[in-house]
Amino acid sequence: MSHKLPSDEDIAKAIVSCLSEHGIVNSQKKLGELVRRKVKDEQNSYVVSDRRIRRIAISRKLVDLELKYKEEKYSNLPHKCPICGSRLKRLKNMTIFGGTVTLGYICSGCRYWTGLKRNVPARYIFTSRR
Ligand SMILES: [Zn+2]
Repeated sequence: MSHKLPSDEDIAKAIVSCLSEHGIVNSQKKLGELVRRKVKDEQNSYVVSDRRIRRIAISRKLVDLELKYKEEKYSNLPHKCPICGSRLKRLKNMTIFGGTVTLGYICSGCRYWTGLKRNVPARYIFTSRR
């Protein structure tokens, strides 16, 4: 039995096919299991992490993503999205004093956002794009 990593292309195909079968997959772990089952064949046992599958699904816009968050206090504010690695943009609002106040951060690459308290992704819900 050999171990070989499937290409991003193989994984992307498996993600699309899993989601068209199931319509909705309500956790990253579940999507991982389904995709691994799909890319596995008789000769090869593939090792693909849940994180890699999630990253491909999001960066290639293969899925619609809904995020559930839990809040945590920051040790320091983020510069990069914890989900897709894109740059975060500041969400600002004007104050009555004419200045601006930072309300939070929003990702330029996916739907992640956070207030000044950190939104930690707690659950991913993937649905097929139609
Ligand atoms: Zn992002």
